[in-house]
Amino acid sequence: MPNPKRITEKLFQSPSKYIQGPSAIQNAAKYLGQLGKAPLITCDALVYGIAGQALIEALEKANFNVTYNQFNGEATSQEIDRLQSLGKERSVDFVIGVGGGKTIDTAKAVADKLQVPSAILPTTASTDAPCSALSVLYTAEGAFDQYTFFNSNPSVVLVDTSVIAKAPPRFLAAGMGDAVATNVEARLCTHSPNFGGGLPTEVSVAIGEKCEEILFKYGRQAYEANKAHAVTPALEAVIEANTLLSGLGFESGGLAAAHAIHNGFTAIEELHHLLHGEKVAFGTVAQLVLISSPTETLDRYISFMLSVDLPVTFAQLGIPNVKDEELREVARRSCAPGETIWNMERVVTEEAVFSAIKGADAAGRDFIARTGWKKV
Ligand SMILES: [Zn+2]
Repeated sequence: MPNPKRITEKLFQSPSKYIQGPSAIQNAAKYLGQLGKAPLITCDALVYGIAGQALIEALEKANFNVTYNQFNGEATSQEIDRLQSLGKERSVDFVIGVGGGKTIDTAKAVADKLQVPSAILPTTASTDAPCSALSVLYTAEGAFDQYTFFNSNPSVVLVDTSVIAKAPPRFLAAGMGDAVATNVEARLCTHSPNFGGGLPTEVSVAIGEKCEEILFKYGRQAYEANKAHAVTPALEAVIEANTLLSGLGFESGGLAAAHAIHNGFTAIEELHHLLHGEKVAFGTVAQLVLISSPTETLDRYISFMLSVDLPVTFAQLGIPNVKDEELREVARRSCAPGETIWNMERVVTEEAVFSAIKGADAAGRDFIARTGWKKV
């Protein structure tokens, strides 16, 4: 299945500018002025208090003409259409999405429909959504709907690390779950077209490796710093790994089974409250099982996941009594035509994915029993 169109060009894409630091919102006008003076800003009510209001004040002080509208909470096509009409009515120059993955994915889609640039200000380091030229859309009920692709990446990604340091550490951990998948997935699809439609370049492979290196080196330390709301070098490094490296790595490197299994998991209603990266973390272990990784390798990843409280068993996912027929449905969805699992350069069957998911839970339980691991 990989590369059915026999693509021979390599392709790498990225945002035009990535800015990260503890006063980024205060200095936002300096970086956003190049996109125009009339932005449409969207964020949810909670994020408005955390960052939205401060951003609007900073921009209005610099004479921007801001249109603000509250995000309704789900990245659906109806919400995108609603914000697009507003942006059109107000003739905005660009769209700013402030918040988590769903707000960001919606803002990117709105900007694409309006054919204006987008600027992304993530308030958590929970996903790799900020840098990419694609969005994941959901149904109004919260199930995975589709990937949508845009002509360009966000023009500016502005990450205020003092805001992220105040977010609950669970978000940072989820971002690490998403980021740790980057290298595991990208190294299996070096001959399959990436999300830009070309083959991965050497640098996308290197980005995935660097991302993993940072997580193993600083993940736990950053998680603890986040609990203390301290912007330390370790936290800065992990924020960059979760946001920039994971974003560039997955988009130009490629996704494989971990994300396909995540998408399959959205079929189980009891998992809807989990964050994207929490399910991707489990999917990553399942992928490692699927590709016959040695126990030593599994242990290394499972130990990392547990060090930042990411789930590695069905019980930790909150589905201790999940039935085989539910897991078969997850496997069936993971193997849907067009899913990223087909980027892997090996034969995959629904039955093998079903077994790998059960094998991941078994490996997680075994690690915990064997090492006596306990949540601190
Ligand atoms: Zn992801």
